[in-house]
Amino acid sequence: MHEMSLAMSVVDEVERVLTGFGPQARAVSVTLQVGGLRAVVPEAMEFCFEAAAQGTRAQGARLDIEQVPIVVRCGHCGHDWTVEVIEFMCPACEGPVQVLSGKELLLRSIEVDDGHDDYSSRTEDDA
Ligand SMILES: [Zn+2]
Repeated sequence: MHEMSLAMSVVDEVERVLTGFGPQARAVSVTLQVGGLRAVVPEAMEFCFEAAAQGTRAQGARLDIEQVPIVVRCGHCGHDWTVEVIEFMCPACEGPVQVLSGKELLLRSIEVDDGHDDYSSRTEDDA
């Protein structure tokens, strides 16, 4: 289950970001952007995130997963389309296919409670 190592790196990243928000800061919610090619099972990811977050400042945070569709483009005719599984040949002209999106694995945003106000902050970073 590769979700566990992904979850651990996400928690590490959340901890790193929260360091800048003071000692009381904790994560309220974490949004991940995951491309279809990453083959991440959302339920497994949520379970692993919860486990990995135990004892960290991400403990109890809600994990939101944004699925990014796999979009490919034909290098020959320029046609692009969305696929469920990667295709290597253009259905129109049999040209070679390149991947436009679907490889994403990004820590998109973190909702932070700094322990004082209702202040929250969003940040974007590579996971
Ligand atoms: Zn084509």
